[in-house]
Amino acid sequence: MIKEAKATLKETFGYDTFRPLQEDIISQVLKRKDALVIMPTGGGKSLCYQIPALIFDGLTVVVSPLISLMKDQVEQLREFDINAVHLNSSLSPEAYGYNRRQVLNGKAKLLYIAPETLLMDKTRELLENIKVDLFAVDEAHCISEWGHDFRPDYRELARVRKEIFPDATCMALTATATPRVREDIKKTLEFGESEEFIASFDRPNLFLKIADKEDATNQVLDFLYTRKNQSGIIYCISRRQVDELYQALDDEGYSVKPYHAGLSDRDRAINQRQFIRDDVQIIVATIAFGMGINKPNVRFVMHYDMPQNIEQYYQQIGRAGRDGLRSDCVMLFSYNDRHKIKYFINKKEGQEKEVAEKHLDDLVKFIETKKCRRIPLMKYFGEKYTKDECGMCDNCLSKEEDVEDFTLQAQKLLKCISELGESFGKTQVINVLRGSKAQKVLELEHDKLSSHGSGKEWSKNQWEQLSRMLIRQDYLSKGEHAELVIEEKGHSVLKGDENVYGTLDRTATAMSTEEASRVASEVEAKYDEDLFEILRKERKQMADEKGIPPYTIFPDTTLMEMAYYYPKDKEHLLPLYGVGEVKLKKYGSAFIGVIKKYTAEHDIESKEETLQEKAEELENVELHHQIGKAFNAGQSIEHLAEEHGVKEVTILNHLKDYLKEGNDIRLDGITDATSLSLRQQDEIIKIFDEKGSHMLKVVYDRMKKKIGYDQIRIMQLYYMANEAAEKKE
Ligand code: ADP
Ligand code: ZN
Repeated sequence: MIKEAKATLKETFGYDTFRPLQEDIISQVLKRKDALVIMPTGGGKSLCYQIPALIFDGLTVVVSPLISLMKDQVEQLREFDINAVHLNSSLSPEAYGYNRRQVLNGKAKLLYIAPETLLMDKTRELLENIKVDLFAVDEAHCISEWGHDFRPDYRELARVRKEIFPDATCMALTATATPRVREDIKKTLEFGESEEFIASFDRPNLFLKIADKEDATNQVLDFLYTRKNQSGIIYCISRRQVDELYQALDDEGYSVKPYHAGLSDRDRAINQRQFIRDDVQIIVATIAFGMGINKPNVRFVMHYDMPQNIEQYYQQIGRAGRDGLRSDCVMLFSYNDRHKIKYFINKKEGQEKEVAEKHLDDLVKFIETKKCRRIPLMKYFGEKYTKDECGMCDNCLSKEEDVEDFTLQAQKLLKCISELGESFGKTQVINVLRGSKAQKVLELEHDKLSSHGSGKEWSKNQWEQLSRMLIRQDYLSKGEHAELVIEEKGHSVLKGDENVYGTLDRTATAMSTEEASRVASEVEAKYDEDLFEILRKERKQMADEKGIPPYTIFPDTTLMEMAYYYPKDKEHLLPLYGVGEVKLKKYGSAFIGVIKKYTAEHDIESKEETLQEKAEELENVELHHQIGKAFNAGQSIEHLAEEHGVKEVTILNHLKDYLKEGNDIRLDGITDATSLSLRQQDEIIKIFDEKGSHMLKVVYDRMKKKIGYDQIRIMQLYYMANEAAEKKE
């Protein structure tokens, strides 16, 4: 069955390999076992039910709370020639009737349905007479009162399942990871021998950067300068801020629209639609925007104002880069914004207040960290980040040589704060340092302090940057009324016991050359940008003719690969990302036409050979997977060697590769293959224990050269498989 799933992945969806856990989840569902799927936004949840839906004979019902998302999913599936329909309150009576009939006469494979529609009597009548094989509950956190988006209708889903389609396998999917919500989902849906599948929350293609907020609108413009054709979202804290920034960007000639709860439903829907269809590049929005957007080519998410907590931040940046391409996430941070949020939190009471405070603190810790940002981030999601550096965040790429010694200036600043009795904010402190004769300085007789005028060599701006840096590094903190307070570390600096190092200016929002160079693949680094633009326009035109979003034709990744390999004919498109049989037939010729014209005009050679290699590599991948699975299903090594017409040692190598990718292999099948006595086996294992499993020659010598390498290799595989199994326990 999983073989069929794999074939569907490539033939229909055009993807070469499953993402982490997709394969496990799909095989669980194909065995008709329930599953709870926790994956981050963009992790690839939809395929987990879409592929089983295509393999099962009966209908798959998908509950989804968001009508716009339903529509979008249906459009995407139809592009793959998959019969999917939706039922919800937004449909005209004609469309509703048509979709109903598609379900009734068994033509539809997938039915997307809103929870309130599912609960209606007429829906029950419809579904009672139909074989439903799979019931998928999307955004399953809506079941839980502990989730951030509780929907009472979701509570009824367990009953509906029991009453209308008791035999259907049930799958619940969400990006909310908290244990409480998870337990709630499992309890409500009465998952029996279900299993939980929790994917890693790391999204390695997102570049994380945080800049000090100083002149925010210009910082946004700096960031956008080189991104004329990219889609992105900019989050602001308030409607007013959205309107202001939208206006500023519009004045600068950017393709931009606002989105917030103050706009009419109609305007919001229009702006969202234009964004999804690439008619508009940038959306400036409040938190209201984003649910139900699964546009895969969002290239950046910017936080003009800081978010309220890590959960929110991660959900919002998660909207970038679903297609797996590098995408940039930049947050502007200021201690003032933190104070604003704190102000709102202070209006809350009791436990709610405590929780909000804790969440804000966690976020600020994440912002202030000097370590790789993924370390605190993953920790927040209960996951250990196993590397020291991700290479995809500002901290990982900050350069040693940018760090300077600021001990002298820090001492001046701290001394001034101390002389002011730690009861003034940064403006007064800096005025005193710079020897100002401002009224507030004279009136309070701060011009008599020894610090007065001691820091004339620096601009106001520089002192501000330094104070921010000292706060970041815990030398200073801001009190309740924004007064600067010296922390323990700061006192050590004053005493001359500690030096201060750091980088003053952290206001840059544009990526440095080094930062920008980090991409995951050669294709991303070297594709032909001109051809990519031409292909994008072609795609947009095709999409407009059909009235669908461009990415439903091909994702950006596909166009990028086209603009790298320059394939010469239709068949050569198949190894590319996102190209399956159906899309090849529909769009292959048109795109090949464009590529041919371009390569002829510019006298460019196709990279057919590399493409060929890619295809072969894939087949190899296939082979060791095939062999691994067949072996686990009970085939012997001897039999497999015969079947594939290769030596047994080749099969052993394939099994080794299979094992190395984290798959289990059947231990008894390995011992069956050896002709050694138990005593000999134990002896060899002891040698591996001592010397390591790669020391074949040592084993050969120690066993007095009486045992052939074939047998030793079998034991080596056994040893490795055993080791892997133990590690998993
Ligand atoms: P989620 O619902 O978890 O936020 P989606 O199901 O929308 O994520 O998937 C995100 C993107 O990743 C989609 O564009 C999808 O087509 C793509 N995708 C999913 N699985 C794979 C895969 N195995 N290989 C390549 N792309 C994939
Ligand atoms: Zn990092």
